[in-house]
Amino acid sequence: MNTYARYPLTLVRGQGCRVEDDQGRRYLDFISGIAVNTLGHAHPALQQAVCEQAATMLHCSNVFHIPQQQQLAERLCRLSNMGAAFFCNSGAEANEGAIKLARRHFYLQHSPRRTIITATNSFHGRLLSTLTATGQDKVKTGFDPLPPGFTHVPLNDIAALRRTVDDHTAAIMLEPLQGEGGVHLADADYLRAVRELCDEHGLLLILDEVQTGIGRCGHMFAFEAAGVQPDILTLAKGLGGGVAIGCLLAGAHLADVLGPGTHGSTFGGNPLACRAALCVLDEIEQADLLSNVRQQGARLRQGLLQCCDHHRDVLTGVRGQGLLLGLACNDEVAPFIARARELGLLLLPAGPNVLRLLPPLNVSEAEIDEALDILNRVLA
Ligand SMILES: *Cc1c(COP(=O)(O)O)cnc(C)c1O
Repeated sequence: MNTYARYPLTLVRGQGCRVEDDQGRRYLDFISGIAVNTLGHAHPALQQAVCEQAATMLHCSNVFHIPQQQQLAERLCRLSNMGAAFFCNSGAEANEGAIKLARRHFYLQHSPRRTIITATNSFHGRLLSTLTATGQDKVKTGFDPLPPGFTHVPLNDIAALRRTVDDHTAAIMLEPLQGEGGVHLADADYLRAVRELCDEHGLLLILDEVQTGIGRCGHMFAFEAAGVQPDILTLAKGLGGGVAIGCLLAGAHLADVLGPGTHGSTFGGNPLACRAALCVLDEIEQADLLSNVRQQGARLRQGLLQCCDHHRDVLTGVRGQGLLLGLACNDEVAPFIARARELGLLLLPAGPNVLRLLPPLNVSEAEIDEALDILNRVLA
């Protein structure tokens, strides 16, 4: 179906931060499959892990114990300080699971709380539940009737949130850094105030880290920077390094809410996807990629700020964290993206007026400098 406005480009292979099209032209990849190719392309360890697992067992169903899934659950729980994990195949599915978990928790407590509050400009996925949770009208039009029980408030406005919480509120669901919605950061003070508000009213804090999690923002999870612990955490994009996997993590106090028969997924947590995710986590640790994200993120941000200084007529600021950065423009960014592509750099928009940069977590200093050089030529 014609669901994607595709770039006029066919990519056929990649190596590290570089990809090659069907004409043999090479590009620096600052899209990473939209924050998916955590380790870049054709990473040797991930290649080996996936090949070995394919040669052993791809799938067996969740009617059996799956050791790779067990290991990944324990690893992610330890890293995020959570108590239990459920695996699915995408970000939207993880968020759907988060909504179900929150509602079921209050159902089991004989409480009427069911409503989920999310932020304006948020993005939570394309399922009926998650597009309703999404704070952007463009994803909803024509898909009614939409499920009830969602309201939206402006991000970073704690007073608006306080006014909106009522006896039917079950959870507040936020991205620590909005990706699709324009690279808008939830302030650390705001997140801490949201956590306090949740504690005050007995509400659940759901953090959607589908785009920000797994090292993208310089910590394993973006919530660490604010020092705020969620009750429910969702992951997907970067977790499998290119293999489809989604994950719903719940605090220990919520570990038993979804019992047998309440939720499930045929493919979720299969041996292949879990093995890939374990390899991604190993590599982040062994290659100290979190330090690299902070270093290269700071270098990229510095370069983008210099671009802003030189082109104050078109550029209005740099936003984001780690290697999820946005360059805000006062005009449409599509022509910039097309020109950068001609010069060998792949970039994404985040809304009509923001350039989004998200290279693989193992991007080198030289590659950052090369991307900045191309960007400067585009702007000139
Ligand atoms: C991409 C994204 C989703 C949806 O993930 P899919 O895998 O496309 O379903 C949800 N939330 C956030 C924050 C995202 O960036």
